[in-house]
Amino acid sequence: MSATNTAEEPQTQAISSDDRALLFQAIRNTKDSRLREAFTAVCSTYPSAAKLACEILLSRPSGESGLKRQRWEVCNRCDQEYNEDDNSPRDCIYHTGDMEPDEEHQQEEDFSDNSDYRESYPEHFRWECCGRTGTDPGCRRNRHVPEVTGRTEQPALRKKRKEEEAEEGESYNEEEGSEEKEDKEDEADGRAAVRNQRGDWWRQ
Ligand SMILES: [Zn+2]
Ligand SMILES: [Zn+2]
Repeated sequence: MSATNTAEEPQTQAISSDDRALLFQAIRNTKDSRLREAFTAVCSTYPSAAKLACEILLSRPSGESGLKRQRWEVCNRCDQEYNEDDNSPRDCIYHTGDMEPDEEHQQEEDFSDNSDYRESYPEHFRWECCGRTGTDPGCRRNRHVPEVTGRTEQPALRKKRKEEEAEEGESYNEEEGSEEKEDKEDEADGRAAVRNQRGDWWRQ
């Protein structure tokens, strides 16, 4: 076979229903690293599987550049997983400052290096950016930004992301935001239901 040949799809053989059930059970129970290895092998062997994996794991081409990037990312500001194809300028709600001990509780503990204490008692802290209590939602909203910068990112997209990261974001008011958020969740649930019916859950 010459190097210019496109990869041929190997002959597929149906597997028995017993094997199929076992396989899906194994997918549920196998460690992530082993599954990644198996998924890589499947994508390397079957061009159609690789094409489907691209649809699931890569974003739609972005703007005029037509560039793609990794679709599912974890946000560096709010720690949530998000979809690059569905990342609006209002999706990420965050604080710009650090938490500092509330005046009332300043004397109780040595807060300086105690991150466990911060996690257990966020109500004893205030956000220095807005003065809200540690349990309050963020005071700014913007697009989500990827946790690992530059990963699978082409230069034009990197430039765009850097510009977005530098944006200050708009201020966020909890009262107004909560209603809007519910509407948005209903809408998202509706979309998810349609996707599930079609069996292609990763599409918009
Ligand atoms: Zn804040
Ligand atoms: Zn975010």
